[in-house]
Amino acid sequence: MIAEIISIGNELTTGQTVDTNAPWLAARLAEFGVTCTRQHTVADELAAIHDVIDMAAKRANVLLITGGLGPTPDDLTRLGLAQAMGVELDFHEASHRRIEAYFRSRKRPMHDGNRQQAMFPRGAEPLMNERGTAPGIYARLHDSRVYCMPGVPSEMTWMFDTYVVPMLQELAGEGVILRSILRTFGMSESEVGEKLADLMRRDRNPTIGTSAADLIISIRILARGQTRVEAEALMADEIQEIRQRLGQVVYGEGDDTLATAVGRRLIETRQTVSIAESCTGGMIAKRLTDLPGSSAYMKQGFVTYANEAKTALLGVSADDIREHGAVSETVALQMAANCRVRSGTDYAIGVTGIAGPSGGTKEKPVGLVYIALASPDGETKVKEFRFGDNLSREQVRDRTAKAALNWLRRKIDQQS
Ligand code: AMP
Ligand code: MG
Repeated sequence: MIAEIISIGNELTTGQTVDTNAPWLAARLAEFGVTCTRQHTVADELAAIHDVIDMAAKRANVLLITGGLGPTPDDLTRLGLAQAMGVELDFHEASHRRIEAYFRSRKRPMHDGNRQQAMFPRGAEPLMNERGTAPGIYARLHDSRVYCMPGVPSEMTWMFDTYVVPMLQELAGEGVILRSILRTFGMSESEVGEKLADLMRRDRNPTIGTSAADLIISIRILARGQTRVEAEALMADEIQEIRQRLGQVVYGEGDDTLATAVGRRLIETRQTVSIAESCTGGMIAKRLTDLPGSSAYMKQGFVTYANEAKTALLGVSADDIREHGAVSETVALQMAANCRVRSGTDYAIGVTGIAGPSGGTKEKPVGLVYIALASPDGETKVKEFRFGDNLSREQVRDRTAKAALNWLRRKIDQQS
């Protein structure tokens, strides 16, 4: 099976937007053993769109097109496809009603342009879009199955999973392919690789692979079975084996972040947390409230950036700040302990550090961070981190937030 991918949009051909759709689609196709032989990037120009669709559909079994399905006059994919197919565009009443309902439910006015989104080449099928207004299009052209999807990545990925994957599975005739991702924090990629070496052989089923991004090591698992039950059983065994080998560093699956992993644990144990932040400027509180339902566990956050704020809002001793400095064990400990008492929560985190790029000294370099954790047992502990003065301000803050959330996660697990 051979596929081609077409990305449509002036923002792509002028270099204003980086095409993330094509690489994403190519990687997913590879999982199904489909080779992508060509990727095209085309401007919002009718002749160019029509041309490339016509040529690609003559060569490929599967043609994946993204972009150009919007409501404005420069969105020409539907017309380009219709011309390549040699047919007219027809108005599709049911799709129009869906688009109307989408706007009504959001109390937003619908514009004339949205009517064009309900136009389809004669003989093509509308693909309902649950993530946005623009329906996709499925059509047969030459020997090719053509899928047009919106350019917005979140809508495109949803459509691919919903409509293209079942077709690929059927054509591949290999039964069912399931994908899972395990997320880990606290072990290097090479260490993970060593522990899973025998599982990473390419000739196995399931196959697994690792990737690293900002200290999170992800393990991707692909399980193939003749039936869904078989694939699910293989997947469950593999996940159990990996979790057993890696232990506590596995914090979640799929889209889990350290913050959502913490949130879930707090909900399960009916416990609460509050945060006192200096160098992270509210980043930890922000991440802890990313999860819907976070009000069940997140009570409050203090962003005490200035010394006076640490004293006024959290009761950190001004003398201690003078004696030990704002970036010190003592101050972190008081921030966490006092934050916990003032907020009336089970846990509290206090962080103070030097995010850089300036402000570092020989004794207290950029990347020096103290994180304190106050726990339900009344104990408050502090840890010193030296993330390195080569990191950017953003990296120091990100690592601080991750280290703090990971510590809290491990602590909750110990206590429950
Ligand atoms: P469209 O479906 O052409 O209206 O595209 C809507 C938006 O999706 C564009 O404004 C871009 O921000 C984004 N987009 C379109 N194509 C791509 C692509 N290939 N990769 C990443 N983003 C895209
Ligand atoms: Mg566009």
